[in-house]
Amino acid sequence: MLLLPTTTYRTEAFLAAASRLDVDVTVASERPSTLQHLNPAALVTLDFSDPQAAADQVVQFSEEFPIDAVVPVDSQVVVAAAAICAALGLRHNSVQSATAAQDKHLMRQLFAQADVASPGFTLCSLDEDRTARAERVEYPCVVKPLALAASQGVIRADDPAEFVAAVDRLEAILEYQDGKPPREFLVEQFVEGPEVALEGILTAGKLRVLALFDKPDQLDGPFFEETIYLAPSQLASDLQERIAGTAEQAATALGLSDGPIHAELRLSGDGPVVIEVNARSIGGLCSRLLRFGSGLSLEELIIMHAIDQEVELPDRQSQAAGVMMLPIPAKGRLEEVRGLDDAKEVVGIEELTITAHLGQQLVPLPEGSQYLGFLFARADSPEQVEQALREAQRRLEFRITAR
Ligand code: ADP
Ligand code: CA
Repeated sequence: MLLLPTTTYRTEAFLAAASRLDVDVTVASERPSTLQHLNPAALVTLDFSDPQAAADQVVQFSEEFPIDAVVPVDSQVVVAAAAICAALGLRHNSVQSATAAQDKHLMRQLFAQADVASPGFTLCSLDEDRTARAERVEYPCVVKPLALAASQGVIRADDPAEFVAAVDRLEAILEYQDGKPPREFLVEQFVEGPEVALEGILTAGKLRVLALFDKPDQLDGPFFEETIYLAPSQLASDLQERIAGTAEQAATALGLSDGPIHAELRLSGDGPVVIEVNARSIGGLCSRLLRFGSGLSLEELIIMHAIDQEVELPDRQSQAAGVMMLPIPAKGRLEEVRGLDDAKEVVGIEELTITAHLGQQLVPLPEGSQYLGFLFARADSPEQVEQALREAQRRLEFRITAR
């Protein structure tokens, strides 16, 4: 059973993986499909925001159509997946751990309790006096929402004036969210140093690293746009081992035990520091840059592992590869994209996908949470991959008009 949130980019990749593995799939999504009656084993409608109700419904469904594994396709559905697995008696992350991985404050508390290297933090409220709080904060700091993603609302502040401005801005962002806007947010110590991302899979709490990515752009703020991911990492192997060890310790602190994780860490002077651990695989279209063994995709590995945790997972193919998430440069309406062919002609560029559509209202960080698209490259070395990505980006031109 694949749990597909309506907003995911990853439906195609998971369905293709299931089909290549010749696995029968039930797609669970939030919107009822008019085709459901044609193939009742293949489609089911669940309310992911009510994990217990979703679990009860799947238990009933499975009496007629047995389920061997449940795979959450993005972070919004990890708690529902955990509740469903618990109800079906399938090995999976506990509901508690999945919940912790979705709540940045709980995550920080569990890291601190377990002595996982992670930034100092304070839980603050939008209802308290900002100017007074600004005097007590240590700088530089990061102001961040408890439950958004893709760096939306994450803002660095270097002094009290910037702090007050950042909190004002975060408040406006939170007011735009669906449902009851949360009044609480986190203030964290800013951790200096380069950032890496780790893609891995847990089996009974043991971490198998599938890929470690370097992020060659310095992420110093005030906003934290993800841009380039490069693999293999160029870091020394002993440091890579420490990163993996810290990520595993962080997953354990949250109680995560089984299935994919995506972890972000900063390399401070004192060693790896955990920014976050998500109970899901890498987002967007980024997984396309990973290939394993004879050419398996990340999604194939995730499904194989969900069905049989004893299965031997192949290594990543060693060729250097990278992705650039194309950031939104300005607010406004996307009128025209130029240079696509020129960009694709850059040596090493394998794929260019523009996910934004013409006419779309674009919102950059920190208010927005989208990208214009994704560039993929492969070459002999990570340096060549990085060069190809930057050159291709340079050739792209996005015409955006205000309003
Ligand atoms: P999200 O869930 O939106 O991705 P994160 O907590 O991962 O939120 O923050 C997004 C990015 O902001 C991180 O990848 C990192 O670059 C930066 N960041 C967040 N917190 C800190 C921190 N305490 N110190 C330094 N950088 C941070
Ligand atoms: Ca993150």
